[in-house]
Amino acid sequence: MDYVKHFQVKPGDKVNLKKIDADFKDGHESKEHALAEIEAYNSKLKRLQYLLYAENKHSLLICLQGRDAAGKDGTINHVLSTLNPQGCTVTGFKVPSAQETAHDFLWRYHKATPARGQVAIFNRSHYEDVLVVRVHDLVPKAVWSRRYDQINDFEKMLHASGTHILKFYLHIDADEQLKRFKKRINDPQRQWKISESDYTERSYWDDYTKAFESAMEKCSTKQAPWFIIPSNHKWFRNLAISKIIVETLESLQMKMPEPTVDINEVRKQYHEILEKEEGSKPDK
Ligand code: AMP
Ligand code: MG
Repeated sequence: MDYVKHFQVKPGDKVNLKKIDADFKDGHESKEHALAEIEAYNSKLKRLQYLLYAENKHSLLICLQGRDAAGKDGTINHVLSTLNPQGCTVTGFKVPSAQETAHDFLWRYHKATPARGQVAIFNRSHYEDVLVVRVHDLVPKAVWSRRYDQINDFEKMLHASGTHILKFYLHIDADEQLKRFKKRINDPQRQWKISESDYTERSYWDDYTKAFESAMEKCSTKQAPWFIIPSNHKWFRNLAISKIIVETLESLQMKMPEPTVDINEVRKQYHEILEKEEGSKPDK
């Protein structure tokens, strides 16, 4: 199945999250079944990131959004496990500080966008400013409602500067979320992750649904598409996201840069002559 096509919100599409199966796993019976495919994409991703870094022409911005316990941290662990940390940054966005609030809402995000050759992952993103902010009336409607256009302009500008943007909504259903919270409650290694707001936010489930749907309807563009990833199965989520990142990077048709020195000359001067002078054996 073509995941780029299948999970992408096409510009102008209506989004109805209730109708999207969070349990979907594309016919794979289990994680074990999909493991070989997951690993194949991981090694492709590693090679492509090396090329992105070497070519130093494009950059990649991955935005992760989802409800609490949807798997943003797990996705980052998975994607990062194959990436070279030197070419990658991860930024998590929490409640804005006083300094951040004193600026325009995009200020803190713009600073974290990737430099050429780099991958940047956003754990939550500029979309919080039309999600939590909208659900809890943190600014007047007149302010948040103009942010969709401002976000589109921002992303258009980034794209024109060589930044490719992929936005993933990790789709879990309410039962799965409660199951995950319960697992955290019972696991001493993960109890620290629980906050009261996880439970209180649940009562705004439908408001968040509307806010996510609006964001994806208004801000899924050709240059910065949204993808809705069925995420009840963590391994399927990882597979789908890896595959979409790999295919996006492949579509850039990146090339290894030409060497900046004359390779034959360097070989002659520093290997053949030097090795002869120093009496070491040249490589065969
Ligand atoms: P967590 O990702 O679980 O550490 O939680 C971060 C919290 O920060 C979440 O409750 C977000 O909704 C909140 N947050 C992130 N960005 C914003 C924002 N721009 N305005 C208000 N709250 C935010
Ligand atoms: Mg949380």
